[in-house]
Amino acid sequence: TRLTRPDLDGLPAYVPGRNLADLTRELGIAEAVKLASNEVPYGPLPGVVEAAAEALGSVHRYPDLGAVALRDALAERLSVSADRIVTGCGSVALAEIIVKATCMPGDEIVYSWRSFEAYPIIAAGVGATSVRVPNTPEHGHDLDAMAEAITDRTRLVFVCNPNNPTGSSLRKADLDRFLDAVPSDVLVVLDEAYREMVTDPQVPDGLETYGDRANILVLRTLSKAWGLAGLRMGYLVAQPGEAAAIRKVVTPFSTSLVAQAAALAALQQEDEVRRRCALVTAERERVTEALRKLSVDVPASQANFVWLPLGDRSAAFGQACESRGVIVRPFQPDGVRVTIGTPEENDLFLAAAEAALEG
Ligand code: PMP
Repeated sequence: TRLTRPDLDGLPAYVPGRNLADLTRELGIAEAVKLASNEVPYGPLPGVVEAAAEALGSVHRYPDLGAVALRDALAERLSVSADRIVTGCGSVALAEIIVKATCMPGDEIVYSWRSFEAYPIIAAGVGATSVRVPNTPEHGHDLDAMAEAITDRTRLVFVCNPNNPTGSSLRKADLDRFLDAVPSDVLVVLDEAYREMVTDPQVPDGLETYGDRANILVLRTLSKAWGLAGLRMGYLVAQPGEAAAIRKVVTPFSTSLVAQAAALAALQQEDEVRRRCALVTAERERVTEALRKLSVDVPASQANFVWLPLGDRSAAFGQACESRGVIVRPFQPDGVRVTIGTPEENDLFLAAAEAALEG
């Protein structure tokens, strides 16, 4: 007897980066390096472990359902009112909740492809139809084609800026034109998981630039620049009415007491976050140049990873890097995404890449 929906059979599972400890053991080396999940490599921010440890003393209590203190801190930092903010158990959980709040079965969600691998999974979860618009030859969103793909059934558009996994980014003039073309009854999610890594002034901050538009929602995370991937905390900023509706379908108590306390502590470390992001983005440029010297046509990245468009050689390249102790993320048959790590980790990757490309 089938107890689950048959339409889930064909759905690809979310593939996490390979486990670091397993690979280290398998290769029998001192330490393998993981450059597969777009984490920032410098450990928890100062004060975060202490705040989380202190919160552990209260874990027999439920967390604050509305995450009021955290939302207030975010509201102040972002210069928006707290009623526009919804927190969630990672921005991927919020993406799922946004879909739940906007789409009925058969409704359409438009997004560029390749993009964040969770979008198709989330869409299928509610029986919505994914409308995937192929990336441009330069590995970015084809905004004109995305605008054309919108139909009467479209409820939602995901715009991933910078785009995971290609690192490509959208400029203001192009986004302006696209957003003007989107009907007012279609919600546009600007997924800005990597916003803190953007150094190109022409790539607009979605919240500052478009935050007042009624049908725009900005999605952010504390997993990357803020170093809380393991504790799971993301947030969105929408108009108050949409935020209230979305809050109704958030799983109650899904952001833990420990995660809320840690996030509050992390938000006090903005200078340190800036310093770390500057290290990462400088390394991003160095790694990009080094790969281009190895004749890999790496597109410019505004995120904390780079994209190697290796086509059907992607899986083999990933395997070759792994056998040299460096875990990367192949997306066969399109390319390989490599997270920027510490300078030493990046050197290990570049040595592995050179060997892999020769072999
Ligand atoms: N959006 C994008 C574009 C991402 O790359 C990721 C993480 N890979 C997320 C959202 C989700 O991040 P988290 O759930 O850790 O906040």
